[in-house]
Order: sequence, then C-alpha cells, then structure tokens
Amino acid sequence: MAPGHMIPIIDMARLFTTQGVKATIITTPFNEPLVAKTIERTKTCSGFNIDIKTIKFPAVEVGLPEGCENIDSLPSNENSARASFMTATGMLRQPLEQLLQDCRPHCVVADMFFPWATDVAAKFGIPRLVFHGTSFFSLSTMLSAKGDIFTKFLKEAHEAEVRSYGVVVNSFYELEPAYANLYIKVLGRKAWHIGPVSLCKEAEDKGQRGKESSIDTHECLKWLNTKNNDSVVYICFGSLANLTDSQLMEIAMGLEASEQQFIWVVKKGKGKKEEEDWMPKGFEKRMEGKGLIIRGWAPQVLILDHEAVGGFVTHCGCNSTLEGVIAGVPMVTWPMFADQFYNEKLVTEVLKIGVPVGAQQCVNMMGNEAYSIKKEAIVKAVRRIIMVSEEAKEMRSRAKALGEMARRAMEKGGSSYSDLNALIEELKILSG
Ligand code: UDP
Repeated sequence: MAPGHMIPIIDMARLFTTQGVKATIITTPFNEPLVAKTIERTKTCSGFNIDIKTIKFPAVEVGLPEGCENIDSLPSNENSARASFMTATGMLRQPLEQLLQDCRPHCVVADMFFPWATDVAAKFGIPRLVFHGTSFFSLSTMLSAKGDIFTKFLKEAHEAEVRSYGVVVNSFYELEPAYANLYIKVLGRKAWHIGPVSLCKEAEDKGQRGKESSIDTHECLKWLNTKNNDSVVYICFGSLANLTDSQLMEIAMGLEASEQQFIWVVKKGKGKKEEEDWMPKGFEKRMEGKGLIIRGWAPQVLILDHEAVGGFVTHCGCNSTLEGVIAGVPMVTWPMFADQFYNEKLVTEVLKIGVPVGAQQCVNMMGNEAYSIKKEAIVKAVRRIIMVSEEAKEMRSRAKALGEMARRAMEKGGSSYSDLNALIEELKILSG
C-alpha cells in the first residue's frame, strides 16, 4: 500500500483487461478515489471496465490516524508507526477471505507485502501470483543474499512465494536475460515477465499517474518545449523519500554549480519548513528559465518521455529505474533504501547506462542528518551524464536501444506480450 506498488498494480489490471480478462482491484476507502480516477480514464478512453472493491483498513484500531492507509501518509517514520501499519495490513486477511468467498475469481495477484494471501486464496482453490515490483536482477540478488538480510517479515514473504503459483515481474526479458534465466532456470522460480506495465497502451494518461500533479502539465511541457534535445536533467527521489534540509541544500548548490538545466522535484510536507531555508538565498530567482522546481508530485513519465530531458537523477526505485530505461536516458543513481541499491548495480554495472553519485549508506524515508552526498559529487555525476562526451554518448545510445526493446516487448508478439498470454492460457486451463 504505497504509490510505487499501487501504480504498477493498476497498470497490470489494465493489461490483463486488454487481454480479455475481467479484473477487479481490491483496495481500501482512502486509496479508492485514486484507483477510481485512473480506472475511469481507462473506461472513457478505451471502454475497458475494471471493478473496484474496497475493504476497511483498521488504521484507528492499531493506533494510526484515521485515513492513514498508505505508507506515504504515515504520521512519522518511527519503527512503531511502520509496525502498526504492517499489523493493520495483516488484519486485511479476514475481509479478503470473505471477499474471495463471495467473488470466487480464477486467480489472485497480490503484492509481496501480503504473504498470507497465498493461504487465503488456497482455501478456495484459487492460485495466487506474487507481485514484487522489482526486477529479476534484484529478485535474484535478494535470494542469493538471503541469509544476511532477511528479516522475519521477508522470510514469511519468501515462504509464501514458494507456496504460491508464481511471480509476475514488471520487467522484460531483453533487459536482463541472464537474470531472468537465473531466477527461472537456476533458482527454479515460476515467473512471468509482463512489463514494463506502464507501456500498456491503456496507460496513456502519463501526466496523471499515481497522484494529481502539482504542476499544470501543459505549463511543464511548454517549459520543456523551449529546451534543446537532451539538455535537461530531471531529479526526483520517488514517492517516499524525504530528504533532509541539508541534503536539499547540497543538491541546490550542486545543480547551480553544474551549470545544467533541470527539473527538480521536491516533496513537501513531513518536517519540511515552510520558509524553505533548504535552498540558497535567491536560488530560485537565479535559476529562472534554467531550472524548474516542482513542489509535491511531478508528472514523471510525461517529463522523462520529453525529448528535452537527457538525464535522470534517481533514487533507483524499481518503477523509476524502469521508467528511466523506457525513456532511454542515462541516469545518476542515488539509492536510499530497500531494493534501490540492487537497482543501482543493474543500471551502472549490468546495463551500463548510468553513473553512481556515490551513496554508500542506507538512509531511511526521513533522511539522515549525519549522512549526505556533497555538492561536488552531484556536480560531477550530473555533468558526466548530460555533457557531450564519448562516455555519455555511449550510455545514451545503450539506454535508447533498451527503451526501444521495452516497447517491442509489449507489442503483439513481443516477449512480454507473449509471456502474459502464456500466463493467461495457463490460468484458463487451470480453472477448467
Ligand atoms: N512518481 C511520480 N511523480 C513524483 C514521484 C513519483 O509520478 O513526483 C511516480 C514514479 O513515476 C514511479 C512511482 O511514482 O512510477 C515511484 O515508484 P518508485 O518505485 O520509483 O519509487 P518509490 O516511490 O516506491 O520509492
């Protein structure tokens, strides 16, 4: 229950629908409007209908504020708040059971954060597919590093995965053939690569993904249209990371010193002071025309797909990483937590389409005052991906080729298209 999981899940539901499957999204009341809006657009544009069913999220029962139904609305990043959220998530088990009993679908796709969904589905003889969100590369790496990093929860999720029917992966074969083979053939997992799901042709609403954009998308495009191709760096750290004021200051100074044009997304809220003393005096005025700051939620995919954007400074969230690949832009990798350090390796060492900023330490969602990346490292990395050089040219050409492969994978006859069809055919046989 986080934007980075819900966005691809909705795309996946659309994808199933385009293949003639009836899809229903199960969500909670405070997340429902977001899902409903997206689905409404799909219905208006293409006539495909997806049902929504809501189940109550027991936030108040576990001591969270009413309406706290998404990780990005946690009142704090204290372990206790996250633990309460997980407890409430676990309490969805019983209502899901009731819902499955009433609806009897042929298959349940549930996020890895609902390990118990495997047993609930099994009770009614329904196969459960696991959705992780991340790549074959990081799935395989996590499995190999298992002994060291598995917490109790991840162990439980892992065991549930082994008992489930298989895994659907938001990736495409050509991106990481060695790791798709490793995961499926060597590690013996049953998995289907069906992505990038954001390329599903029903997901054309690029400016409206996840949340309402904080900037008028036309204004944003107008700004980009005045720029030369591959001349703007886009900086965004996903939906959850809150950077400290001192880190934001280093970024601002780094961007100014890099002398490059940029769009920088700064998340508002959670401890951010309104007086904005996180940017150097006069910064925004000096950057007028050269740099655009979006406070809140950016139309990320729309921006990345614009030809003026030539580089992406990313926290390496699994969706952002894939979106960078699709857009064919070199990346500066700046992982912060979760699978992001694996995604960094995929981008910099396997695909060779990015350079690391030098992040060595996990910082939690609220950032870490004691650890920040300095402006010099930011200047150096940004210039490496955006300025004309042999290295940047090669990264860009590899990235563009991967973007093309991603599109082909989703077209009729492509690797992801075919794998999705194989999955659906298998499920059809299973359900008689
Ligand atoms: N996103 C967006 N605008 C923003 C921030 C994020 O559209 O201002 C989208 C982004 O395109 C991606 C998702 O939110 O699809 C974030 O997922 P990701 O896995 O990259 O990171 P997370 O938020 O889970 O850390």
